Amino acid sequence: MRHELQCAGSDLCEEIAGAQENTFSSVYEGDPPSRAIWETDGFRLIADVSPLSIGHLLLLPVEHYLSFAQLMDESEVQPARVLEKIGSLYRAAFGELTVLEHGSSIGMRSSACISHAHWHIMPIDGSRINSLIRADALPSVALTDIEQLAGFGAAPYFLCGHGNEYHVYDGRRPMRSQYLRSIVGQVLGIPDPLWDYALVVRKELLRETIARTSSWREILGKQG
Ligand SMILES: [Zn+2]
Ligand SMILES: [Zn+2]
Repeated sequence: MRHELQCAGSDLCEEIAGAQENTFSSVYEGDPPSRAIWETDGFRLIADVSPLSIGHLLLLPVEHYLSFAQLMDESEVQPARVLEKIGSLYRAAFGELTVLEHGSSIGMRSSACISHAHWHIMPIDGSRINSLIRADALPSVALTDIEQLAGFGAAPYFLCGHGNEYHVYDGRRPMRSQYLRSIVGQVLGIPDPLWDYALVVRKELLRETIARTSSWREILGKQG
């Protein structure tokens, strides 16, 4: 099980491609039948399989990229537009909106997971995330525009976006595994190491998330 949930990485490729047998279906056994929330402009919005809070979502491109930096470097799609579209629904349902990413790069070997690019969307205070990462002394750059992320695909990074502020942290230094989940765990008051995706799967949080977003497809569809 530990391995199957590994970062939801390569398994996302198969699930996105429509594989019937995937981690989500084996963990949730049909309740709910799907974790899909919305599809638009080459992106899918789904619930995290092992959520740390209600409203823990993933935004991912249908095409395979290692990171959003690579995606923005090599394609015309605009993930920020998707965020704008869901922003007010998200805040009404869950509170505030913070974007987190552990971006993989081709140069990464065994140190971390090589995965299908995904943004974690979470209803937490991004400034607290930033303070905790800063306390670990990772070099960082503040972006003035999310489009600038396109320049960061060559090396692993951590991204935290909150409001119009995006910070990119150098991810080349080996950090504890599931680094961002451990940081989120600190902000949410989840004791060490219960933020580990494989130790505790909070199925009720996913079910509540799916219930609260069940009208989104129709509402967003009408907005065009
Ligand atoms: Zn992740
Ligand atoms: Zn993939």
